[in-house]
Amino acid sequence: GRGVPLTMASGAPDRKIKQVIAIMSGKGGVGKSLVTGLLAVSLRRQGQQVGILDGDITGPSIARMFGTKGQPTKSANGGIEPLRSKGGIKIVSMNMFLEKESDPVVWRGPMISSAIKQFYSDVDWGNLDYLLVDLPPGTSDAPMTVMQALPLDGVIVVSSPQMLATMIVMKCIHMVQQLKGSIVGVVENMAYFETPNGERYEIFGPGNGTELVAMTGAPLLGNLPIDSVLTTLCDAGRVEEYYAEAYEEMAANFINTLRI
Ligand code: ADP
Repeated sequence: GRGVPLTMASGAPDRKIKQVIAIMSGKGGVGKSLVTGLLAVSLRRQGQQVGILDGDITGPSIARMFGTKGQPTKSANGGIEPLRSKGGIKIVSMNMFLEKESDPVVWRGPMISSAIKQFYSDVDWGNLDYLLVDLPPGTSDAPMTVMQALPLDGVIVVSSPQMLATMIVMKCIHMVQQLKGSIVGVVENMAYFETPNGERYEIFGPGNGTELVAMTGAPLLGNLPIDSVLTTLCDAGRVEEYYAEAYEEMAANFINTLRI
């Protein structure tokens, strides 16, 4: 890095990034990256300046979801210029530094966290209302060191209905609490599937949003359906074209929560 001191202190008045929010999940595949991406899309639609730091560098999907191609360039003041999505979201992902998108990143926790620290400090983010950090999944040392290294204002925990039963989400919540982080909200993804005539099926079991709220003391920001249109758009790099009430509501709840 440039030797920029990174501290846990946040909220400095001169800081160019107003809110640094990490998105985490107890394990991979629950939709953490998707929630990060779609939260960014909704916030951007509302005219906010948004950046995404794709810290899930063991399986970076943010750049793919937004269809951003190419490598970041050097910015005028010597930092790294982030890529921009069509809608104007600033994105930096490990994917952008790999030779081939399919190259595996076989790194240990400390290497991952130092890469992410560099993404935070060496990227020329400019003025941002929100920097969303897509954390590595799980509760290993990688997400933990990232959480300690960045001046986080809050954490969003993404869960799916069956996760409470397995206690995976509890581990996640305990980790944030141990690190004295603040959970600003919980999101339940893949909560149900809705048929074209409006019938809802809870494919992965009944929702547990109420329990999550009780355990964290944080509000339920979203209850998100399974939607194949969404998966298709993500695979095509066109996530910004997706619009669904449930996601707009999540973003509105998120903004309101931070205001309180
Ligand atoms: P994670 O970041 O937790 O590993 P992802 O966000 O990459 O998970 O999601 C895993 C896969 O599931 C992706 O292909 C994504 O498009 C799909 N997916 C996640 N949530 C939903 C949803 N609500 N509806 C449809 N597909 C989803």
